[in-house]
Amino acid sequence: MIKLERGEKPDALENSQQSWQDALNLAISKYGSYTLIPKREKETLVSHYRNDFIKVPLFESSNSKCAFCECKPAEGGNIEVEHFRPKSIYPLLTFEWTNFLPCCSKCNTTKSNHDTATSPIINPYDTDPELILYYEDIRIKPRDANALAKNTIAVCGLNSIRLMRPRGDILSSLHDFAEAIENAIEDFNSCTTDLRRRNRLRRITESIERIELLANRSERYSGYCKSYLNGCAPYQMAKKLIADNSE
Ligand SMILES: [Zn+2]
Repeated sequence: MIKLERGEKPDALENSQQSWQDALNLAISKYGSYTLIPKREKETLVSHYRNDFIKVPLFESSNSKCAFCECKPAEGGNIEVEHFRPKSIYPLLTFEWTNFLPCCSKCNTTKSNHDTATSPIINPYDTDPELILYYEDIRIKPRDANALAKNTIAVCGLNSIRLMRPRGDILSSLHDFAEAIENAIEDFNSCTTDLRRRNRLRRITESIERIELLANRSERYSGYCKSYLNGCAPYQMAKKLIADNSE
């Protein structure tokens, strides 16, 4: 989970929002509550939030990743428009730009109708998750027993098997990387000529650049990779070595 920047509210939403909301409110008055509106009628009334002029800028803001688990659902399913405050409890926020989040179907289903007003979870547009969450091995954990972080992990199922598996795969590659870098640094330190040292340094720089791509915010599970690199001693040593030897 990483911090996201919310884009500008689309003009087309601004122009249509009130009429969509008025129609929904009319049905709520007619049937007595949001939940009592007949299913098909309700589906037609609320479906506007799935318009492309909402989905496209929303999904762009997260590089088409789920705002909660950082998977890329487009690779194996659909990314969905999630209502941070559930529309079933807060129907007046059904078409509210600041209430939308890009979300995978797994997180959307797990979070379901959880009431984020009475039992808050992280909204990554408003709170930087990295300040209150960290990773230990393949588990995500709250920093300093932070209640908001703890609740987010539980409500969105951020330590479920479907997320531990890819983290395990990434961890295994990162362990290999750390070992290779450690050997490369030893090799660098034992070089006897400047030419060799320069060659070794170039190779170390290239592999650092490659591994840093994984922590790029556009990549899946980038928060996990970034967290690993921050705590990876060989990576930090290599960065120092590069900095100390750059002209
Ligand atoms: Zn997700």
